[in-house]
Amino acid sequence: MGGLNPPPVLVATRSAHKLREIRYLLADLPVRLLGPSDLGLPERDEEADLEPFETFARNALSKAKYFHARSGLPVLADDSGLCVDALGGGPGVRTRRFAPEGWADRWGRDEANNRWLLDRLADVADGARGAHYRCAVALTDDLQHAVVEGTVTGRIARRPRGVGGFGYDPLFVPDGHARTYAELPEAVKAATSHRSAAIREARGWLEDHVVRSRGGRI
Ligand code: IMP
Repeated sequence: MGGLNPPPVLVATRSAHKLREIRYLLADLPVRLLGPSDLGLPERDEEADLEPFETFARNALSKAKYFHARSGLPVLADDSGLCVDALGGGPGVRTRRFAPEGWADRWGRDEANNRWLLDRLADVADGARGAHYRCAVALTDDLQHAVVEGTVTGRIARRPRGVGGFGYDPLFVPDGHARTYAELPEAVKAATSHRSAAIREARGWLEDHVVRSRGGRI
């Protein structure tokens, strides 16, 4: 394992849920995973414009570079979303702002998105409700960057079920299971999710560029 003072890595997200999952997935790596608020980085309006691109990979890299410039630390950024077959792969990179603003004001962002999605799929038969989550993880420091991706396939339930996870989890039933991610134990999501697949790929970069390069040992 590493030394007594593991090197810091900034996780470039304002989502407490994403930060929690990423910490869980990398709990055994000798690094300190910090959120922007752990570093006292105030949220700025410009952060709303960090994801203008048409791919998860470019949006993740955009967030990683922005937070690297603000912190000087190695950064891990996650851009993720839901791609629904019956919606031609949408909402995709627009997943966070899928529901109209009025709905988000009324129910809160996550519940509004879930309601909006169920509305769009009201006439879609059980056999045609396939979807996948995608996650791009970008890693950057002063010298180099990398982007890795993960996906998990499943289907969209007919109504929200469960209280775990976040976002669309009450509607997402991963392949091989009958329950939604919000119903399944946390360990099942951690073993199968788009984020866990991407983080598995990211681990090697962190070991090489953060842990070993700073004298730590795995
Ligand atoms: P981002 O902050 O632009 O990456 O937006 C991510 C969007 O995808 C948000 O609406 C999240 O709720 C949703 N999302 C990403 N990952 C997950 C997940 O693991 N479960 C549920 N929703 C997710």
